[in-house]
Amino acid sequence: MEKNIQCPICGSVEIGQGKLSGYANMMPINKIMSTGSQIIADICTDCGYILSMKVKTPEKFK
Ligand SMILES: [Zn+2]
Repeated sequence: MEKNIQCPICGSVEIGQGKLSGYANMMPINKIMSTGSQIIADICTDCGYILSMKVKTPEKFK
């Protein structure tokens, strides 16, 4: 599947991926014993707009 993402703000197709590190992990709110999940973001490398954010392991939040 080809990735064809375009920035809705500036129209750029130069989209990079970043991750929040350190303590910025997303934690399940109702689970105490959990390490949480890393957050991956798609970022426009021209204007800096964040197109999407998603957790790496969504099954942890079920
Ligand atoms: Zn942009």
